[in-house]
Amino acid sequence: MAELGDDIKHAKRLLDQNKLVAIPTETVYGLAANATNSAAVTQIFKTKKRPSFDPLIIHIHSFEQLSEYIINIPEKAKLLADRFWPGALTLLLQKKDIIPDIVTSGLDTVAIRIPNHPLTLELLKSISYPLAAPSANPFGYISPTTAIHVNDQLGNNIDYILDGGTCEVGIESTIIGFDNDHPTVHRLGGVSIEKIESIIGKVDVKALSSSNPVAPGMLQNHYSPKKKLIIGDIDELLQKHNNVGVISFQKDYKVQHQIQLSKTGNLDEAAQCLFGALRKLDNENISIIISEYVPNHGLGRAINDRLKRAAIEQ
Ligand code: AMP
Ligand code: MG
Repeated sequence: MAELGDDIKHAKRLLDQNKLVAIPTETVYGLAANATNSAAVTQIFKTKKRPSFDPLIIHIHSFEQLSEYIINIPEKAKLLADRFWPGALTLLLQKKDIIPDIVTSGLDTVAIRIPNHPLTLELLKSISYPLAAPSANPFGYISPTTAIHVNDQLGNNIDYILDGGTCEVGIESTIIGFDNDHPTVHRLGGVSIEKIESIIGKVDVKALSSSNPVAPGMLQNHYSPKKKLIIGDIDELLQKHNNVGVISFQKDYKVQHQIQLSKTGNLDEAAQCLFGALRKLDNENISIIISEYVPNHGLGRAINDRLKRAAIEQ
């Protein structure tokens, strides 16, 4: 098992030696390495068993750092960074050569953001390179929102997990690109479409698709528990199935294994709880998990997107 702690100097030492360290962010935990070192980044792909065509997000600590890694920053990208960084918004921007091709799976854009977590911001300030960090889970499984989640699955493969508590947002970042200056959301996430549109006007949102080479994170079978997940009307599903676990939005279904994502109907709280709930029920002695879609606005859109993917059979 890995060591857990909040020793930033220790994390820095390991990263300086091109080793991997799991880091907390406000979205989910990341599996981090020096983004400018191909050998270190290769270890991320190996440890996650992630296919090399699925590019990584790089993390920096200040807007001023952007020009070290990015060729051109569109005006709308600037406005978004100004409003949402540090935060759960990732920008796809033209990369400089200092970012190796392995990070971007050969694409000429790199996904970049400033995460909003005090420990990780302090760590980023103490090092002289950006951190490449995808979610710290085996490829295809549910993303981790606590240090324990990381340790459960990757603890044998990494030395250190910087423990920053439970992730506040709990769902991955929203990813937005600017092809021909036209903003397109490639992944729904922790900053809602409504908030983005309030700053830069209408954006396109790429729908769920089975294979999309520009955003391999849009692969359908992402974020999946090992148990079968069925989404629908929970009352009806309870009539049909036995030995189930229930993840409801608000309502109490009075079954033994159940998690209410937000008793008060708060979509932000539901987002924060979603991955932990899927993990918990995945480890219970039940046959299937049943759940329902939440209202499709705010972070509800990202929650529904993750539920939909998690329910797709492998
Ligand atoms: P993860 O950090 O595990 O959520 O994975 C990062 C995700 O960012 C990938 O799966 C892709 O969907 C997306 N991504 C990263 N870089 C790019 C890029 N250059 N173009 C499009 N999508 C990207
Ligand atoms: Mg991931």
